[in-house]
Amino acid sequence: MRPVTSYTLPNGLKVLLYPDVREPTLTVNVVYKTGAKHEGPREYGMAHLLEHMAFQNTQNFRDIPRELERRGARFNANTNADRTTYYETLPASPQNLDYALAMEADRMSLALLTESALQQELVAVKKEWENSGRSGFQPLLQEMMAIAYPHHPYGRDTFGLEAGLLQARLEDIQAFYQRRYHPGLAVLSIGGAFAIEDAQRLIEKYFAPLLNRTATLDERAFELKPQFSERMIVIPKPGGPSYVGLIYRAMPGADPSFVAAQALVHCLSSHRDSPLQKKLIQTGLAREAFGFVQQSVDEGFIVFMAKPGPGRDARDLLQRLARLVESSAGSCQDKDLRRFQAENTAAWADVNRNVRAFTMQLGEFEVLGDWRLIQKEPIRSQELRLELVKNVARWLTPHNRTAGVLDPKSSHSLAGRRDRP
Ligand SMILES: [Zn+2]
Repeated sequence: MRPVTSYTLPNGLKVLLYPDVREPTLTVNVVYKTGAKHEGPREYGMAHLLEHMAFQNTQNFRDIPRELERRGARFNANTNADRTTYYETLPASPQNLDYALAMEADRMSLALLTESALQQELVAVKKEWENSGRSGFQPLLQEMMAIAYPHHPYGRDTFGLEAGLLQARLEDIQAFYQRRYHPGLAVLSIGGAFAIEDAQRLIEKYFAPLLNRTATLDERAFELKPQFSERMIVIPKPGGPSYVGLIYRAMPGADPSFVAAQALVHCLSSHRDSPLQKKLIQTGLAREAFGFVQQSVDEGFIVFMAKPGPGRDARDLLQRLARLVESSAGSCQDKDLRRFQAENTAAWADVNRNVRAFTMQLGEFEVLGDWRLIQKEPIRSQELRLELVKNVARWLTPHNRTAGVLDPKSSHSLAGRRDRP
């Protein structure tokens, strides 16, 4: 593991520097602790909409995507429930480092939020929303999260369109931006070929003058009521693809047992001999069957999804999936654990080799609570004991389960929520 230089500016900006002069590129990543979770009732969808608007123009930098392209950069931005992230990977040069830092500081303080940008990005967001709802398991997962997290913003989706984003007023977006984009809520990570003194000098020049507005923040603590009984949702989706799914609420992403949940899901679903592959895929009951663990700042979840095989009944598959997951959870063996550890170690080696991935992961982990997780997680994986995996397996019970079916055979005339115009 190469060393990371970490410090915090007096205005609250967390800085993580990871120089490697052997690299041909340079990655600048800015993460804001601002996601769908931080939206108030009239702001649903705003974190994502703001990301679209701030992606384009700031007062001193116009048409940022075109300028980044001209410089040969690879770049993007995305928003989830916990955070918004912007990143660019540029050919390494002092000029590109200067440009990226000056531009990101402008985005943090002087994004150009105009009525025409708002109207343009509303159209873009709506198109993105329609595409995301059309196929696959995502609409089912979203509806399941809504009932698994009824009192927590994780139950809302980041688009917020159903909750009235289309009436978003520019002044509300500007107020949201003022509240949520400032150094006190941001993490800047830089990796690749740059001189550390250059980066520190430029950070001082561009970011140090920015104001920390954390004092005016009214951060709510989010209520997570425990789940005591099974929850179930059936979504009529005539003619659409069918999926079934299970969510089990679990631990926050920084929790030491998170890796045990990953090992458990791996044991149940990820290789030829795992119960889901053997009993569902190889028997033709399911065409797809997979699981993953959602890593979040607050309580995340373990999820399993399956797509019925040709002519198979979705509700029958759901019952089998639940029985299989819950009855096999305690039966993972040492050999399963070793297989997970080998794959996980290889995956971390890939992240370590890829400066861009490493730089972005630093920001992600800092938002989860501590950038040092990038060093801790591989060790937690290597030192993981079967006992901890079996402890996490106890969470896979009917009373902690939220089940869902995307049912194409439903006779209901009600269309899925996403099919509304
Ligand atoms: Zn988007």
